[in-house]
Amino acid sequence: MTTTRFAPSPTGYIHVGNLRTALMNYLIARKAGGTFILRIDDTDPERSKEEYVDAIKQDLEWLGLHWDKVERQSDRLDRYAEAADKLREMGRFYEAFETPTELDLKRKKQLNMGKPPVYDRAALNLSDAEKDALRAERGNGVWRFKLDHERIEWTDGILGDISIDAASVSDPVLIRGDGQVLYTIASVVDDTEMGVTDVVRGSDHVTNTATQIQIIEALGGQCPRFAHHSLLTGPLGEALSKRLGTLALRDLREQGVQPMALLSLMARLGSSDPVELRSDMAELIEGFDVNRFGAAPTKFDVQDLFPLTAKHLQSLPLTDVADAVEDAGVPADLAEPFWAMARENITTLADLKGWWELCRDGAEPLIADEDREFIAEAVALLPDGPFDGETWGTWTKAVKEATGRKGKGLFMPLRKALTGMERGPEMAALLPLLQVIRARG
Ligand code: GLU
Repeated sequence: MTTTRFAPSPTGYIHVGNLRTALMNYLIARKAGGTFILRIDDTDPERSKEEYVDAIKQDLEWLGLHWDKVERQSDRLDRYAEAADKLREMGRFYEAFETPTELDLKRKKQLNMGKPPVYDRAALNLSDAEKDALRAERGNGVWRFKLDHERIEWTDGILGDISIDAASVSDPVLIRGDGQVLYTIASVVDDTEMGVTDVVRGSDHVTNTATQIQIIEALGGQCPRFAHHSLLTGPLGEALSKRLGTLALRDLREQGVQPMALLSLMARLGSSDPVELRSDMAELIEGFDVNRFGAAPTKFDVQDLFPLTAKHLQSLPLTDVADAVEDAGVPADLAEPFWAMARENITTLADLKGWWELCRDGAEPLIADEDREFIAEAVALLPDGPFDGETWGTWTKAVKEATGRKGKGLFMPLRKALTGMERGPEMAALLPLLQVIRARG
């Protein structure tokens, strides 16, 4: 059965880059009728925070990316210790004692000599007595996985055929000196034991994948299918990594971005299919294919989310936005006609407030000198209430007959006088909502 997971580290809020990973894994699982696991990668007790775990769940729920199961790596430390023992018994695990400064120096030397900065495995030559002495002096060493120096190959769902020479990669540290298990092994143990069949993640993980394939094989596990999506850049191709902090999902929510707009964009951005606003999750699932994504960096422009949000809002019935309409201050008996008028004229729900204020308080009229007389005449012709969708038509017809004005010369001065703006909602829909006019009628 298809099983995927989204595996954030709870060390911050999730952003659009994380969402790409979450969404792709979610859609693969749902399309196949499989299982989607939310895995909290919290093996780092210092940086992991409970508030971020809660925030990640809230953000996913907001988007409707519901998970079938939550797993926490901090609950599974004994499983990782067992796997580490197994690697030790196999002779694939060795303790190394270099300090970060020593490693840095080695790297610099290698680079100076034009060699790739790969760990030189010096620790493999240490005798037991030397190790004891180093341990006594420096404390426990780190544990490195001894890679087999051969080519590591897989067919990536996005990048295609990949072949990496294991000799060009340092033996990965899987356990730190203080005993903390690192993600590289924890993830392998989880993926294997939880039956994960498909792993989609960012292309910054490609080298990890190479080493993890060897660890999975050493532990006798089944390799999942891997796909690595490209990294997001800003609209001009600039690195987004520094700005990702300002592209947290909760910030976008604050700015009024609608989940369907965000999901529709992220499910297509960087793929060979055009971005289309989808009306619900079922449509997104139906149209998703991870193999249609490209390896090139993907440009992301936060501004693209707003037209999609506006379009999505236009399609919604009042029932879906009743709370927002009420919060804007609209009385219940006007909610229906107000929404019908406003929905074509908003980018986000936050704009409702302004339209309601216009309806409630009226606007500072915009009247050109040459229109003063005309407006006074028009006001005198305003029919008696109650007002409805017909009133504007009846009224402007009467004004036309009385003044001889027509077309733009008739309608524009009226619009500007009533709304203070040259553009805006259908006047026929707006007029019955204008409380000043209602009061007068
Ligand atoms: N916790 C890892 C990360 O956030 C997970 C990577 C993976 O999907 O394996 O980068």
